[in-house]
Amino acid sequence: SSGIPFPWRFVRSPACTSVRSVHLARHSTGGCGGGGISCSVLDLSSSFHPPAASYTDSSDDETSPRDKQQKNSKGSSDFCVKNIKQAEFGRREIEIAEQEMPALMALRKRAQGEKPLAGAKIVGCTHITAQTAVLMETLGALGAQCRWAACNIYSTLNEVAAALAESGFPVFAWKGESEDDFWWCIDRCVNVEGWQPNMILDDGGDLTHWIYKKYPNMFKKIKGIVEESVTGVHRLYQLSKAGKLCVPAMNVNDSVTKQKFDNLYCCRESILDGLKRTTDMMFGGKQVVVCGYGEVGKGCCAALKAMGSIVYVTEIDPICALQACMDGFRLVKLNEVIRQMDIVITCTGNKNVVTREHLDRMKNSCIVCNMGHSNTEIDVASLRTPELTWERVRSQVDHVIWPDGKRIVLLAEGRLLNLSCSTVPTFVLSITATTQLTLEDEYVASLHLPTFDAHLTELTDEQAKYLGLNKNGPFKPNYYRCWL
Ligand code: NAD
Repeated sequence: SSGIPFPWRFVRSPACTSVRSVHLARHSTGGCGGGGISCSVLDLSSSFHPPAASYTDSSDDETSPRDKQQKNSKGSSDFCVKNIKQAEFGRREIEIAEQEMPALMALRKRAQGEKPLAGAKIVGCTHITAQTAVLMETLGALGAQCRWAACNIYSTLNEVAAALAESGFPVFAWKGESEDDFWWCIDRCVNVEGWQPNMILDDGGDLTHWIYKKYPNMFKKIKGIVEESVTGVHRLYQLSKAGKLCVPAMNVNDSVTKQKFDNLYCCRESILDGLKRTTDMMFGGKQVVVCGYGEVGKGCCAALKAMGSIVYVTEIDPICALQACMDGFRLVKLNEVIRQMDIVITCTGNKNVVTREHLDRMKNSCIVCNMGHSNTEIDVASLRTPELTWERVRSQVDHVIWPDGKRIVLLAEGRLLNLSCSTVPTFVLSITATTQLTLEDEYVASLHLPTFDAHLTELTDEQAKYLGLNKNGPFKPNYYRCWL
């Protein structure tokens, strides 16, 4: 045996057993049909601006992928991507990502012969990037069958989707989907003759929502849900409370390796990238307010502070608020500072944090963007009124102009900035992807340490006895969260 702790080995042991971070793992006694999930995180009702094509696109190809007849080199047409001919470029992107995803590559090597995921039929809905491709191909190498859609209409890398389709993965996604396309793609992953998923890997809860609404009987065969985002987890908790969560669900978001690396370090690295690429701005001396001082907020604040910005924080939770104070940030109410801000960033996972009233009071050229999962944090819909003019100045950058000439700079129409407008560091995504796959925090971390030539201290027998620990771990109790 490879000795790899795969809780997903579902032939041998049911999913959802040994995961510390799994708070939702339960079988409810209620049925699973009917009610569904009440809130939808996607609000795509605002008018849709086609984004610029990714760099390998021929930008004059306006044909919807849904209207194209495409086949991969093996003759399969079980996919829908922008342009299958971009596969070679996408393959290079995936190869670059593989270099920074040492743990997944190590897992492939260790468990390939054993195929611990044989029998798994996984339907996935995540951002479709080179890093996701490495995860999908690892799942495939370990024996799983996968079908995949995008969880965001802007974040798909067309060439990567093409490379996956070329190597036989049924992928339904392209950059710049409409709302209708979004749900159509999800449906094409789920509603397949002769194939039924037994595992859901979701980011945001839309796929789970769709199956609950349209195909409730499918849950009879589903062995588990792996949910990555705060937002999706929140929706699962709602289902659980209503007694409608009838399969085990794994809360990847709350695993230490996801929280600390994907939310905190990933956002610390990518917030500046997203702002820079869209606005070419200089950060030194700029006044910035960050709404929400959770993991994402902490990452954004740290990066901006390091660049010399003057950073203010808003919070509703006194603990996170106190942390912001201890870290040297001014805790304010948005109303108190909104007039003088150069940049407003939301990362609360909440709704209507920036309202039309705030937007009315912002100064000329204020940049407004969101780092939270859903496009609910900034009330963008309130800006679609006749007296305001929208001007698309770049891909994902709109100037919204008031009658007196004041303009605010809205990025990605309020959708999450880093995934819409920049790239995110592969290494942190390697940590998250390995967490999704193995669901074992300490093991995931240990697989990444060799990259740094890091040397871990081993407990002596005497020390292990003194602390009451097994020398090989686990080293921390289930409730452990390192907050700082
Ligand atoms: P978190 O729960 O740790 O932090 C959110 C914080 O916002 C909390 O401290 C909460 O008290 C605060 N908050 C809630 N409502 C508020 C309000 N009205 N005003 C001010 N503060 C408020 O969550 P997190 O891990 O920081 O994630 C935040 C969001 O970012 C989620 O939607 C998550 O899915 C998303 N996310 C984005 C990325 C990315 O790459 N952009 C990565 C991970 C998570």
